Amino acid sequence: MAGTETFTFKSEAQQLLDLMIHSLYSHKEIFLRELISNASDALDKLRFEALTEPSLRLDEQPLQIRVSTDAVARTLTVEDNGVGMTREEAIQNLGTIAHSGTREFAKRVAEAQKAEGDTERLIGQFGVGFYSSFIAANEVTVVTRKAGTDEATRWHSAGDGHFDVGDGERDGQGTTVTLHLRDADPDNGLADFTAEWTLREVIKRYSDFVQYPVELRVTRTEAPRDEEGEPIEGAEPTTTVEWKTVNSMKAIWARDPASVTAEEYAEFYKHISHDWEAPFETISLKAEGTFEYRSLLFVPSRAPFDLFYRDYKFGLQLYVNRVLIKDRADELLPEWLRFVKGVVDSPDLSLNVSREMLQQDRRVGKIKKKVAKKIVDTLAKVQREDRDRYADFWGKFGRVLKEGVTDFEYADDVKPLLMFLSSADAEKSTSLAEYVDRMGEGQEAIYFITGESRAAVEKSPHLEAFRAKGYEVLYLVDPIDEIIAGHLTTFAEKPLKSVGKGEVELGTEDERKKAEEARKAAQEAHASLLERLQGTLDEHIKAVRLSSRLTESAVCLVGDEADLSPGLERLLEASGQAAPKQKRILELNPAHPLLAKMQGIYDADREDARLVDFAHLLYGQALLVEGSPLPDPVAFGRRVADLMIKA
Ligand code: ADP
Repeated sequence: MAGTETFTFKSEAQQLLDLMIHSLYSHKEIFLRELISNASDALDKLRFEALTEPSLRLDEQPLQIRVSTDAVARTLTVEDNGVGMTREEAIQNLGTIAHSGTREFAKRVAEAQKAEGDTERLIGQFGVGFYSSFIAANEVTVVTRKAGTDEATRWHSAGDGHFDVGDGERDGQGTTVTLHLRDADPDNGLADFTAEWTLREVIKRYSDFVQYPVELRVTRTEAPRDEEGEPIEGAEPTTTVEWKTVNSMKAIWARDPASVTAEEYAEFYKHISHDWEAPFETISLKAEGTFEYRSLLFVPSRAPFDLFYRDYKFGLQLYVNRVLIKDRADELLPEWLRFVKGVVDSPDLSLNVSREMLQQDRRVGKIKKKVAKKIVDTLAKVQREDRDRYADFWGKFGRVLKEGVTDFEYADDVKPLLMFLSSADAEKSTSLAEYVDRMGEGQEAIYFITGESRAAVEKSPHLEAFRAKGYEVLYLVDPIDEIIAGHLTTFAEKPLKSVGKGEVELGTEDERKKAEEARKAAQEAHASLLERLQGTLDEHIKAVRLSSRLTESAVCLVGDEADLSPGLERLLEASGQAAPKQKRILELNPAHPLLAKMQGIYDADREDARLVDFAHLLYGQALLVEGSPLPDPVAFGRRVADLMIKA
């Protein structure tokens, strides 16, 4: 067996340690919650492994967490008889940071410190676990023995950049964490963690629902008393030591919601999510009958930093009769609700249900559906009752929730929850239902425009006819909206239409007929010129036609109903999916003087070279106003310059 070795902390771990020690001013007591939570995880893991490894013999010992102190030596010890760690595991787990977002965390902290921002909230957000010990300790010793092995390991660090690992001694499996406490400093929020009542209070507050007993060693020194209860003079005081269970251990999700306070729910939420803030919504769910389960769900108040990372792990904790089966069961939650945290407990599932079985189990599918429905209903209620609160939620999670419309099973449930910017209000977003309520007579479709920002789409020539008619247009300006738009086919039996696609027919039937006739007549009158322009632009454009959507601008580009939008084309390209290059349609404003001017040139000399320049300039202009790149910016610039010289 190897002797004692000294290691250097990975740099980000050291950074975190320094942060723990120097920047956390309030809630210093959370380190105890973190240690108890680690111990509870270790007990969960042992219980889980014992399902398939009977030699671990759990029935011989109660699984428990014990907290004790030594006021003279100023130590605090948290001990569990859980799964423990091997030497390698101790080096790996306690010398590096398990969380993938550490670098991100370090970056954010540096930023926050520069801006004199709130580093404490960041610590909560990232859940730093074991390292929080150094808030209260200037030295930490861990002795651990992996279940099923005979050898123990001793890990020790003074938080100064190094840690030592050597052989240790331990009677049974599990882990003992001993903190060598700093001096108490109540003025700076550091309580005396050798005091029984402090520990009792902190354990009760943060760890009441931990499902294993958290026992506190309680020492009582009393003078012996006589039969009347009077102290016997001169007799030596006696000391009794007892282990007292401090937490209620009651699974919070199994309790009647009426008997649980919002604070208790919030503490539980923080425990499972490592969040610092109370949840935005708490939802409890109980299914009875042939298949029973309970669930407790939380919508967070803010988005975790890694919500949009590809490897973001999501899911609900799955328990079978209070035994944790899986920590992040993504089988229980659709991906577009991946920000939701919570617990599902069902006595009817099998304890040793495997991953494949979970995916195939129809009951799991049922839970998922019910859970999703319940969350959607809750959000709809917030949307109905408190628009500002809902807007706050939408700002944080709307981009994720929106993905739900691509999930055909839930699309109809999600659509009413969507919020979009719109031409109807300069700031506030609108729901589809509100849009429909505002639709005037003669308007048969819900119109939208996609693009990069409100500022960009607001000026689009595509909107001109709609603005002139007083029709509202939704602004779909999130990158993902390009994809969402493809799935938003109808709402409340109204079709959703892009203002940039197809022919535009606005107004009553009569108005539409008249407009169409006028456009046809003009199209015929200019047919030959349009053909000439089309011939010049054939490489880029599939048709040149007169527009019914332009009232001010001279020109714009549109697609056919079934075409991809240019934004979606760019999105696909960026994601490496080669989209077939599509030609679009160039529309000219029949009322614009430019058309008459070109017609004049054309009538005088069909081969006039200026028409070629005009065609390219019109096309270039149309690309520029919609924010698309020019195919040949140099040639465009030259043509503009030529035109200016001639003018
Ligand atoms: P987290 O618990 O969030 O993963 P921590 O820094 O608290 O991060 O702990 C790092 C790792 O160390 C844990 O994931 C676990 O593998 C191990 N560990 C910590 N405490 C214990 C313990 N009491 N028993 C067994 N393993 C532990």
